[in-house]
Amino acid sequence: MAKLILFLLFICKLALSADTVYDIRGASPLLDANMTQFLDKWRFDTITPVQSGVYPNVIVNGDPARTNIALTFDDAPDENNTAHLLDILKSRHIKAAFFMIGTTMEESNATVVKRADEEGHLVLNHTFTHPHLSNLDENNITDQLDRAATRIEEITGHYPILYRPPYGSINPLVVQTVNVHGLTTVLWSLDSLDWTLKDPDAVVENVTAHIRNGDIILMHRNHVSVAALPAVIDRLSKMGYTFLRLDELLGIKAYR
Ligand SMILES: [Zn+2]
Repeated sequence: MAKLILFLLFICKLALSADTVYDIRGASPLLDANMTQFLDKWRFDTITPVQSGVYPNVIVNGDPARTNIALTFDDAPDENNTAHLLDILKSRHIKAAFFMIGTTMEESNATVVKRADEEGHLVLNHTFTHPHLSNLDENNITDQLDRAATRIEEITGHYPILYRPPYGSINPLVVQTVNVHGLTTVLWSLDSLDWTLKDPDAVVENVTAHIRNGDIILMHRNHVSVAALPAVIDRLSKMGYTFLRLDELLGIKAYR
């Protein structure tokens, strides 16, 4: 019997190796049937080529064997919410990753970009104008990413090599183009759906109900995630998860 249990544990470990690519989780009762169907289809169509190795160098999650997880925030910076997120992260000694949009990193917002970097968070690339990269040709894909990375480098001194495609919009051309330029595509494995769940408690429920080892959690710099973040951190910590910065979770370099 003991041998059988050991054998089954071995098989489970093989099935969930460090290379395992998760399906994306996260649900919202506020999405209507059409939107849910659209989201499920996007998840399947995007993740299947990653799982089968057709899209190389596209990251969805960290190691399923460890209780480490990472927080990521898209669409920063802005005037208020980004600063509130930084305050909460600081009070709980947690380092996160911010995927920032080039055009919003102007003037007063540059201060909060610099602050995020100085407080030990990653300032990463979310393109210059937030387009669907799948609709662009090779030159425009490169231009979108290089302009945003250059802007980040001007402010922080670091040129990011991790980027997140807006709307998770990738296709073979996007993946091939970014890989040629030495960039790594970072998606997510747990969607907080903070943009549809207007209620912070519902975001906390969604995240804590679906969390797995190695999850990369997607949130945004909106007021719902600002309100939900303290409880998300406290509940997940209580459940035994450890928050690592994205590059530490993945064991890869974030900057050139
Ligand atoms: Zn975005």
